[in-house]
Amino acid sequence: MSFEDFDLDPRCLSVLKAQKIVEPTAIQDEAIPPVLEGRDVVGIAQTGTGKTLAFTLPSLTRLAGGPLKKSMMLVLTPTRELAQQVHQIVDLIGRPLGIGSVCIYGGVGFDKQIKALRQGRAVIVATPGRLLDHMGRGNVKFNDLETLVLDEADRMLDMGFLPDIRRILRKLPRERQTLMFSATFPDEIVRLTQDMLDEPVRISVGAIAKPVDTVRQKLYTVHRVEKTGLLIKILKEEHIDSALIFLRTKIRTDRVAKALKHAGFKAQAIHGDRSQIQRQRALDGFRSGRYKMLIATDVAARGLDIEGISHVFNYDIPDNPDDYIHRIGRTARANAEGDAITFVCPDEMLALAALEKALGHNLPQEEWEGKVPVLTLFHPENKETARSRRVSRRRGRSLLRRR
Ligand code: AMP
Repeated sequence: MSFEDFDLDPRCLSVLKAQKIVEPTAIQDEAIPPVLEGRDVVGIAQTGTGKTLAFTLPSLTRLAGGPLKKSMMLVLTPTRELAQQVHQIVDLIGRPLGIGSVCIYGGVGFDKQIKALRQGRAVIVATPGRLLDHMGRGNVKFNDLETLVLDEADRMLDMGFLPDIRRILRKLPRERQTLMFSATFPDEIVRLTQDMLDEPVRISVGAIAKPVDTVRQKLYTVHRVEKTGLLIKILKEEHIDSALIFLRTKIRTDRVAKALKHAGFKAQAIHGDRSQIQRQRALDGFRSGRYKMLIATDVAARGLDIEGISHVFNYDIPDNPDDYIHRIGRTARANAEGDAITFVCPDEMLALAALEKALGHNLPQEEWEGKVPVLTLFHPENKETARSRRVSRRRGRSLLRRR
């Protein structure tokens, strides 16, 4: 399958060629035809699957097929970083079609955004809170909206945006195409899908929220106080050039960044307490190679699209398996290989068990001199044994009854 096989605007195809994007990913294969037909689509897809192009290419092709008006397409995203990335892709694909995009998010001044909204663009990419502010002030109207996209819907739920989204929805025309992408489908998202989509085509790429196959996953058991030492040791011994390192708390994020700088690495921290400008600088610095190590909390890193990350470290094992999938989705994007290295302390055995249960297998434990025992609570083979034991017990009971 190639992009030429779809009925996409040829001007979009030239952009893809220039970007050396030749073969559609699975989600692009499945989503492009129904989106082109104007159908509603629900896509179960994690980050790194190519979902942004999966909705951008057909949606912009549709917009370019008629007269362009203000605010014809709205993309809602959970974070400013994701909004900016989607905006960049929409601009790239839209430029040859004469389609512009405006990016709306909080934490920065209103003036520039108001100016851009008043001038008007066909596409608006926005985080929900700031968009509602603008809608309340009358800076933007959606009378001509044709397409609504909810990107990373489960993240928006996690971040408490669902009431804002429902408020926005009430002000949008009912007659429209709606596309929703989410890595997981908790009950609230299922309900939202039922309320806002019309007989959607359901697309699932691979199993729900399973890590991409090309990521090598490793586990190091370690005492809490030795995590930084272990991190530095692996970075040095394996000559790791660039890595994204995840921690649970903001303060420790700064601390680890400092320790890495001390050890001679070009490191920078990114978390929710830093201003938008600081976060942007850290991100741009990482992209350009000025910083080689980016130390991030989950919220700050959500939706980051940084290409070519070879290593993702879970310095802290994430509290829930979804975060693990999101974190390691940062490496091995679009079929490249990558390593996801997770540290786990003895008192984190429950988080490890939850993760291994979600993955359906144990993570391979690396041998190293500081290895500590961590109780393995998830035994995939025992599930079988327990089940077969129950079955034989039941069989035994019915045999007894027959006698
Ligand atoms: P996304 O899942 O939309 O965040 O995309 C993940 C990354 O994959 C982005 O950096 C895209 O540029 C890249 N990408 C998307 N589609 C393709 C494709 N068909 N071939 C190669 N790379 C792609």
